[in-house]
Amino acid sequence: MGPKMEDATMTYRVEDVSASTLPVLYAPRPKPPIGFLLHTTDGKDSLAWLQGGSARAGKPASADFLITKLGKIIRVVPRGTHSYHAGVCRWRGRIETGNLVSTLLVGIEVENADSQGEEPNEEQHRAVAALLLVGASKYAWSPLCGFGHYGLAHPMGRRSDPHAWDWGYLAWLMAHAKDSLRLIGDAAF
Ligand SMILES: [Zn+2]
Repeated sequence: MGPKMEDATMTYRVEDVSASTLPVLYAPRPKPPIGFLLHTTDGKDSLAWLQGGSARAGKPASADFLITKLGKIIRVVPRGTHSYHAGVCRWRGRIETGNLVSTLLVGIEVENADSQGEEPNEEQHRAVAALLLVGASKYAWSPLCGFGHYGLAHPMGRRSDPHAWDWGYLAWLMAHAKDSLRLIGDAAF
């Protein structure tokens, strides 16, 4: 992934569509999140699935945010709630069969057709970096806690996403782009 940070400040927008997301897909977040869990959708036009299609298909799951292929940031569930995005996870020496991990970590879905060999693009990496910088400021994340779904999902191998995510590039963007990535629109968190 070739960095192109000679660009001027990049601005990312947040669109809040949570009013039209099925309430069965989220619940009040009991405590502020401590970091994030990253996913890829393995599909296109993922918003409809995250807003209710998953529940209608009998597999209710969603995300707090969706990053589109154009790098637009969509808030899927209402502020102050958490989506059900993690499922059963290994977490700090325990198997968490409830929703603890979904409440602790902000769920970010990156739209990507994993099975077709698609890879998350530069705009999507930048959008995630911008979103996380805002979250880090809002919640005083120090250190920032962040995982890929494959790293926590139980049993091991249950999930393989996020597919082809460039963690190094994300870290580089966050380390070097604090003043060059901006987030506007509805307050993200
Ligand atoms: Zn996932």
